Amino acid sequence: MNTIHRKTIKESLTLKGIGLHSGKTVTLRLHPAPANTGLVFFLYRGINKIRIPISLDHVVDTSNATTIGDGSSNRIQTIEHLLAAVHTLGITDCILEIDAVEVPIMDGSSLPFWEGIRSSGIKELEETIEPIRISHPMWVVDGDKYLVMLPSDELKVTYNIDFNHPLLRGHSYTTKLDETILGEDILPARTFGFLKDVEALQARGLALGGSLDNAVVLTDDGYLNESLRYENECVRHKILDLVGDLAVMGRPFYGHLIASKAGHALDISLAKCIMSKVTGDELTSFKSKRVPLFTKSEMAQ
Ligand SMILES: [Zn+2]
Repeated sequence: MNTIHRKTIKESLTLKGIGLHSGKTVTLRLHPAPANTGLVFFLYRGINKIRIPISLDHVVDTSNATTIGDGSSNRIQTIEHLLAAVHTLGITDCILEIDAVEVPIMDGSSLPFWEGIRSSGIKELEETIEPIRISHPMWVVDGDKYLVMLPSDELKVTYNIDFNHPLLRGHSYTTKLDETILGEDILPARTFGFLKDVEALQARGLALGGSLDNAVVLTDDGYLNESLRYENECVRHKILDLVGDLAVMGRPFYGHLIASKAGHALDISLAKCIMSKVTGDELTSFKSKRVPLFTKSEMAQ
C-alpha cells in the first residue's frame, strides 16, 4: 500500500460568501500549516480569536448542518462542504480563519472550495499519515435510517434516498470515490431543500441566506432552478455531506459505505463508532478517547 503523505496548501487563500442559515457575509481564510497541526479553525469575534480544532470531540450539533464548538458558546456551523473538498484533496494540515459562525455556502456545493484550494496549490509534507481501514463491518441505525461501512481497500459508496417527492423517491447511486470521481461527480452537487420547509426554517432563523444561487429548491412536483447539474444531484450531495462529515475523523479512510436515508447525525455517529474501534499502533492514541455512540433519543433530535 502506498504511503500517504500529509499535505497543506502552498499559499494562503481567501473565500468570501454568505452563511446559508445566518444570511450574513463571511470571510474565510485558509493558511498553510506545519505537519501535525491538523485542521484548526480560528473564529474572530471582536478582538478575540477563538481556537476550535476540527475533530469529533468538537462536534456539538448535527441538526441541519454539522457544527463544531469549543465547549462554550463559540460555534462554527456548516463545515461539511468545505471539509469534503479539503479531504478530497488530501489536506491534513491547515489553519482556517473565519469571521462569522458559519462557513460561507458559496454556490451550495464544494466546488468553489475545491477550485480555490487547487489554485492556491497543494504542498506535500514529509510526514506521513495512516489511513483508516476497518477490518470488520461497522454500522449505526436510527429506525429505518442506517449507515454501514464494510471493509474495502478502496473508498466507495452506495447511497439510497427516499423522500416524499416525485423526483426523489427510491433513488440509489453507487460509485467509487477516488479524487477524480469526487472532484467531477460529487463535489459540484449542490445542497437542496424543499420550498414548503423554507418558511418554517426562516421562522427559526435558519436558511436566511438560501436562494437559487446556492441551493436546489424543490417544489411539490419539481424544482425552481433553471436546471440541475446532474439528474440525481440530490443523492450526490448526500454523498458529499457524508464524505465531509467523515472527514472530521482527520484521516483518509477506505471502505464501502452503504447509506439509507442517512444525514449528519448518522454520519457523525458512524465516525464515532469507527474511531472508537479502529486498531493499529499509530491509532493507539485514539483508544483512550473512546466515545459512546449517540443514544437513540439523541439521534432522533
Ligand atoms: Zn450539504
